[in-house]
Amino acid sequence: MLFDSHSHTKFSADSEMQAKDALQAAARAGVGLVFTEHLDLDFPGEDVFEFSPQKYWQEYLPLRGDQLRLGVEIGLEQGTLARSRAFVAEVPFDLVIGSIHLLEHHDLYYPDYYRGRSKEQVFHAYFQTMAEQIRACDFCDVLGHIDYIVRYAPYEEHTLDYTQFHEGIDAVLRAVIETGKVMELNTRRLGDKAACEDLLPVYQRYHALGGRYVTLGSDAHTPEAIGVNFAAGQQLAAAAGLQLVTFKARKMELCQ
Ligand SMILES: [Zn+2]
Ligand SMILES: [Zn+2]
Repeated sequence: MLFDSHSHTKFSADSEMQAKDALQAAARAGVGLVFTEHLDLDFPGEDVFEFSPQKYWQEYLPLRGDQLRLGVEIGLEQGTLARSRAFVAEVPFDLVIGSIHLLEHHDLYYPDYYRGRSKEQVFHAYFQTMAEQIRACDFCDVLGHIDYIVRYAPYEEHTLDYTQFHEGIDAVLRAVIETGKVMELNTRRLGDKAACEDLLPVYQRYHALGGRYVTLGSDAHTPEAIGVNFAAGQQLAAAAGLQLVTFKARKMELCQ
């Protein structure tokens, strides 16, 4: 079964999705689902991207099974790694995604970090930080959305040009492969053909460097977004020669 291995419900500060609505939407889309709630310790701004793993477990454990796995998406930052590692040990998560949401403690969602910095500067710092954090993180299975920054960076071209940023991207891909992790193919942007064309060389390079597996994740925060652009994601993974996988009890499973 194909799995949507990245989704958020009401345990995430930026989602109000109810588990039952998520499960109905996943059934309609014909996919299994992994909830990956946000843990971003010491996150700047008003919202608190933290939750009680025990409450999460208590409430959702009865729903866990063939259709639903329980995971977490952890924002990786130098100062919080030790506490994030301790959090992961609190309950037996199925899947742990590591993600970069911040640079120099600025939220990449908002425009302030980009002001006065060129795309070259920002993207260079982004990939360098990502590679460092992936190497430092010994408690995650998957690197989330390598193209996250493209969603929000307010530059003229909303692109991720592999040729332009190949050094930084290669450093990230090598870090993922050498630490035994798996790349996510985030489908959020794949409704845009140009985004698919942008990402294909990145995932082909992942394969060329020895990567073989990829998870598909919609990053849904609402039921409508579950499984979105999965046909494009499947096509892209196939074109790069990558096998679709998900995780159960931190063990990789092939999606048939
Ligand atoms: Zn994320
Ligand atoms: Zn997410």
